[in-house]
Parts: sequence; C-alpha cells; structure tokens
Amino acid sequence: MKSHPGFGLFTPLDSIQRIIGTHHGTKPGPNLIFFAGIHGNEPSGIYALHQVLDDLKQMQPSFKGNIYAIAGNMQALILGKRYISKDLNRIWFPNFIIPKEEREKVPEYREKIDILRLLIEILDNGRPTYIFDLHTTSSHSMPFISVSDTLKNRKIIKSIPTHLVLGLEELLDGPMFSFLSELGLPAILFEAGQHDAISSYENHVAFIWTMLSTLKCVSKKNISNHHTFTETLKKNSPGGAKTFEIKFRYLIQNKEVFSMKEGYVNFQRIEKGELLASNQDGPILSKRSGFIFMPLYQEQGCDGFFIIKEIKPFWFNFSSRTRKWKLDKTIKLLPGIQKINDRENTYLIDKTKARYKAISLLHLLGYRKVEYYENKLKMSRRPYDNKSPKTSDLLENFRNYLAMLTN
Ligand SMILES: [Zn+2]
Repeated sequence: MKSHPGFGLFTPLDSIQRIIGTHHGTKPGPNLIFFAGIHGNEPSGIYALHQVLDDLKQMQPSFKGNIYAIAGNMQALILGKRYISKDLNRIWFPNFIIPKEEREKVPEYREKIDILRLLIEILDNGRPTYIFDLHTTSSHSMPFISVSDTLKNRKIIKSIPTHLVLGLEELLDGPMFSFLSELGLPAILFEAGQHDAISSYENHVAFIWTMLSTLKCVSKKNISNHHTFTETLKKNSPGGAKTFEIKFRYLIQNKEVFSMKEGYVNFQRIEKGELLASNQDGPILSKRSGFIFMPLYQEQGCDGFFIIKEIKPFWFNFSSRTRKWKLDKTIKLLPGIQKINDRENTYLIDKTKARYKAISLLHLLGYRKVEYYENKLKMSRRPYDNKSPKTSDLLENFRNYLAMLTN
C-alpha cells in the first residue's frame, strides 16, 4: 500500500472512485453535493465524508433529499500532490479552453469534464442543489468559509461559527465554487485547517453535519451529538467568528524563487513593513497592516500570501438589508464611479478618483470585479443574488459550457 504524504494520520488512499458515496432519503429534499480532494494533497474531506455516510447508514435517521460525495482530482489524490499539470481549482473561468491536441497532456481537463457531466446528471432530478467544496491549507489555520457574496450563500453559512473570508474568488483565477455560484448554484468553500491536522478532519465532519441540519435534510434532534459539532467548530475558532475581506494578493511570478518566512499562522496580525517572505531579489515586506491569510508553505501553488482586513458586523449586516432595498441605485453619485448606460447594474470605477472604501462598499452591495476596461475597473452585480435560476436554465448553461469545452 502506498503511503500518503499528505495525510499521515489516516489509512493511505491507494484507490479512489469519483463518487465517494451517496445517501438518498426516503422523502424529497435538496441535493447536497460535497466535493473533496479538488486538491490532491487535501484528502481530509474524503475521510470525513466516508465517516458521515457510514454514520448515516448505521443511524438511518429520517432523511430528506440526497447527498452526493464526489472526489476531485483523482490522479493527484493517489500521488498526494496538489495537482498534476494544472490546479483543478483554477481552471473554471468561462474562457479556459484547451486546444484538442493538448487536452491529453492536462489530466485536470479530463477531471473537470467528468465532474461537469456528473453535475448535469445530478441536477437533472430538478431538486434545489447546494455545493460544498472541502479543502485544507498548507499553513496552520483556524477553519474558515469563503463564498461568492450572494444573499443566498449568506443565509446558508449563518449556522457555521467560523471566520468568513470574502473576495477570494475575485482574486483567484477560476476557482470552482465561484464558477458554480455564477451559474446560480449556492456554493460554499470550507477550509478546515492544516492538511495533516486531526482537527481538520473533525472540522470537516462537523461542517458536513451542520449543513445537513441547516438545509433540513435531517433534524437536529435526530443527530445524537449535534451540539458537539457546533462546539467543535467554535472551539477551533477561538476569538469568535469574524468576517474579512481580501485586500492584497502576492502572486508568485514564473521562475520566482519564493520562500515564506517560517512560522506564520493563518489570520495572524501583521504590520506594515513586516518581513513576510523572500525571493531571489531579497526580502518581501508587507505593504500594509492587517492579517496574513493563506501563507504558502508547500511547493505547488502560485499565491504566496494574502492580506485581509476585518469587516465590522454592522456593515456586513447592513449590506444584507440595503441589497433588498435597492439602495445601490445611488452608487453612481459617488465620485469616480460611472454607470454603463446600456448595462443593468454595471459600473466603471476610476480608481484614481474613487475612494478606496467605495470599492469595499460595492462589494458589500453584491458587486464583483468583472474585468479592467480602458484602465477602469468594471464591476457588476452578481447574478442570482437571492433567487435561483430555473433548473432548465441551469442545465442549459451547464450543457452549453460542456459543449464549448469538448467541441
Ligand atoms: Zn485546496
């Protein structure tokens, strides 16, 4: 049996199936799709899903809906590597199309197409569908959630007492959860902690059960130790659940020899000018104060670190209400912000004139970066903020996307 470099505490993975397991209730309800191992060196979620599915089989509680547990990068999971040729969590932007003759060289391309086909099969039952993507980090970390900031996603994650980090999807190229959110599915990224930590596995198990009860697949009273799951997540999030937004990303350039300074822990406070890392040209100092986020302590990966800032609860809660009031119509009155006339809810932001806070405000009101256009930042409102598309429209979008990738 092959030893697994990514998760020494558990039985090594020497084989893996795309469908880790399923559970079908006797009553109608939503589809809950859990992905694990989208990064091959992060198998914690796979062990956690096995555990929960086994427990459900034993307990046989009254259950509404369906669970689908799906493995991500199967080849990389066997090798215990983040990816083989391309990061499977960075290839979901709409225009990522590889020419036919190169497809065989990128195993992740096939994995992605397999996953899309499977999603289409599952969605075909017409039930409301929720996506959960289970990950771990290379640095020591408290658990945290990241979502595309839609009201739908906010509602689901309310029951999770961990930190929430917003803006990740805007800075990463093509993560799966933001692609699925854009198509209209609620999609939650859950990072449980460090790759090898036993607490990551516990957090994954606690997260899965909490989502099953939040979405009413199984009632809390039928989960014998439900309170312990909430307690586990709380215990592993000392200082309480806070909301952060990403302010800075250190992108490692091609051929750069990047080395993170040892000892940083996710969410650790940092000061402007602090030595964070180094490369072939010397030290890399922090350009601002805040909290360090996802410092890179593994060889594969192109994000050196991020810097995040806390969003005060008042603003976060206030923004949920203002989205419903449609107060955002007044946005165009702010300096440096110009509405694009023929486009609904789309603005051009001149960063030299707009106050930095204006962009944060737009984020809170449900806007996200689309692209840079004539040196200005184009932002538009996320589709399906509070509503979901019809299943037939959703399926059509998925099928069109798949056709574009495979033709
Ligand atoms: Zn990951």
